[in-house]
Amino acid sequence: MTEGRWQVPLSDVATDDELVRAAADTVKSGWWSMGPRVAEFEEKFAELCGSSHALAVANGTAALHLALLAVECGPGDEVLVPSLNFVAAANTIVHTGATPVFVDICGDDDLNMDPADVEAAVTPATKAIVVLHYGGYAADLDALMGIAEKHSLVVVEDAAHAPGGTYNGRKCGTFGAIGCFSFFSNKNLPVGEGGMMVTDDDELRERLRLLRSHGMTTLTWDRHRGHAHSYDVVTHGFNYRLDEIRAALGLVQLNRLPKENERRAEISARYRKELHGTAGITMPFPDPEAQHLSSHHLAVVLMPAGVDRFAVRTALEERRIQTSVHYPPIHQFSAYDELGGRRPLLRTDAVADRVLTLPLYAGMSEDQIETVVGELVSAVESASP
Ligand SMILES: *Cc1c(COP(=O)(O)O)cnc(C)c1O
Repeated sequence: MTEGRWQVPLSDVATDDELVRAAADTVKSGWWSMGPRVAEFEEKFAELCGSSHALAVANGTAALHLALLAVECGPGDEVLVPSLNFVAAANTIVHTGATPVFVDICGDDDLNMDPADVEAAVTPATKAIVVLHYGGYAADLDALMGIAEKHSLVVVEDAAHAPGGTYNGRKCGTFGAIGCFSFFSNKNLPVGEGGMMVTDDDELRERLRLLRSHGMTTLTWDRHRGHAHSYDVVTHGFNYRLDEIRAALGLVQLNRLPKENERRAEISARYRKELHGTAGITMPFPDPEAQHLSSHHLAVVLMPAGVDRFAVRTALEERRIQTSVHYPPIHQFSAYDELGGRRPLLRTDAVADRVLTLPLYAGMSEDQIETVVGELVSAVESASP
């Protein structure tokens, strides 16, 4: 539990004995860098996803970077990515030397990337699509995979919001060549900093494994166990490894994920019931459980046009309720000035000033939900033009 400032924080982590013990036992084991706990975390995560392979990394951004490199994105390539997204997706595309091409969302009811706009953005230089599952709600994978196949594009899934989420019964992150997850403190499976890549492709798995650790053919852990005495370097890799302490936390969190996602679903449903249509507020993804299971990472509402979001956020902050914005569109950032204006993104622009993210985490009480609902409605009413 975080202390002090907020009555209802945006997200919160558990700090119970089981987690403390997992970390303490690992510290006492005397082996802190990547080793058996990371291997077990990978195995269990692959199992959760129904993937052949899972590789743990230092964070979700590292996962995206390695995934894009492994599928050979580079100079001269264009990579399609939604602008209503965390900036890491676009930054990592730039770091490979490729060019991000921003794609619009479907609209107010569906903040995921619009397959029709993806199709419209394809050029002979297009190499890949980075598919985000916004807030834990699966993107239209049937349509997107179809477009990818038609134009021979690689799909990388940014499943940072969607561990445990499904699309037609299959786990998010397992549709593209590689699925990327984040275990940052505010995500559904928090360890502080951490990430994971899943793939069914043996060759991609081998590339990812090498790129994660300097391109070296053996690990310190292998040498420690006497399983290897030396190594070769076969590619120009990075140090993007996860450590044992975080993997130990991850193993505990992984067990909790299904129950916590269920609790998130309940909270989301209550927000939806009480807020959708009240004071002009709407909640995107109005039929979330229809055929796909959301992981309910974010509770996002759209305020009516003309409402001063800053005033609403300030009013809520005065009540010690923390809110956020997911996201300021990437194409509006200074670093993307040059790339940002290339395609019209009208539906993204139309929600950019209206999206507001409400507190959502498994440990939220009914009283806290009620407080957020009541305070939001009155804040929106007073900030309406
Ligand atoms: C959190 C997040 C990332 C980056 O993950 P880190 O672990 O913070 O590096 C990437 N994409 C999305 C959509 C995210 O939410």
